[in-house]
Amino acid sequence: MSEQFREAIESGVPDAFKYMHPVMRRNYGQWDWHERCRPGVLHHASHNNEHIWTVRAGTQRQMDTGTIRKLCQIADEYAEGHVRFTIRSNIEFMVSEESKVVPLIDKLTAEGFPVGGTGNSVSMISHTQGFLHCDIPATDASGVVKALMDELYDEFVNERMPNRVHISTSCCQINCGGQADIAVNIQHTKPPMINHDLVSNVCERPAVVARCPVAAIRPAMVNGKPSLEVDERKCVCCGACYPPCPPMQINDPENSKLAIWIGGKNSNARSKPSMMKLVAAGLPNKPPRWPEVAAVLKKILRCYQENAKDWERVGEWVERIGWERFFQLTELPFTRFHVDNWTGAKYTLNHSTHIRF
Ligand code: SF4
Ligand code: SF4
Repeated sequence: MSEQFREAIESGVPDAFKYMHPVMRRNYGQWDWHERCRPGVLHHASHNNEHIWTVRAGTQRQMDTGTIRKLCQIADEYAEGHVRFTIRSNIEFMVSEESKVVPLIDKLTAEGFPVGGTGNSVSMISHTQGFLHCDIPATDASGVVKALMDELYDEFVNERMPNRVHISTSCCQINCGGQADIAVNIQHTKPPMINHDLVSNVCERPAVVARCPVAAIRPAMVNGKPSLEVDERKCVCCGACYPPCPPMQINDPENSKLAIWIGGKNSNARSKPSMMKLVAAGLPNKPPRWPEVAAVLKKILRCYQENAKDWERVGEWVERIGWERFFQLTELPFTRFHVDNWTGAKYTLNHSTHIRF
């Protein structure tokens, strides 16, 4: 081996074992049974006859240091100094004595952290990075989650749904948007506005042309400068050209709307995984509370709660009753753009790498 060899620095996921509660570490892979004692509390018993109670609480997701310190203080005083976050950013506290569960719940509730999110509840909404970490969002992400979870508080602290409900939000239309039982996604409705003075200084034009999924962008000379032009009849307003070329501004307070998609499922449990379908479009992107989005979301959840059979996920319920009945029950307007799975969809869904016009 050459003396010049420089070993790569490992920078992957840190070893979780050293942060684990000692009871969990000792019994890793040795659990015998578990139960949900009440919404938000899991009780696990191991073959070694050790027990641990996990208390799950909701947070505002993107947290300031003051909140993190407060949660750590609760962990030190009311739990046993260990916390972990779930993939939906709920925080979990672990205790090895049952007598510590109620004081911990009381403290969390008093400090404004609701305990719940387990079993057949509406768990914490997962969101994309938004204004805090990303340069292309058309709406806030954590703000939408906070506003919507305030509306869904009762469904987080209770387990009253037919099955678990996972909701996601996404602040652009193309990148890290989630697949979920119900997804709230940005929907641009107008083609980008091009600032021709900046394009040649800021954008790599071939890269931008290549980004467009429908080949609507062409190089062009405008006012004697190299720029780009968009064939607005082809543009599907996806926003893919905006990240590599910010002078192609597509975010707009009026024309960037919110859309709701439902029926996504990643697991193989009971039925095969499924993709979401659009059920509501053109909802106003209206901070700080997004009232129109909250109203549609609650209407869908109420219909699902009242009409689905036990253990049916949202998509399974709709598949059973049919999309026509879904739109009747929810009273959402149905248009030809909503469900694109009829036999003619092969002409509108892109099943190959070829571009069709
Ligand atoms: S969804 Fe889009 S805008 Fe939001 S964080 Fe991801 S890439 Fe950025
Ligand atoms: S918004 Fe999408 S479809 Fe329209 S020009 Fe940009 S990349 Fe192409």
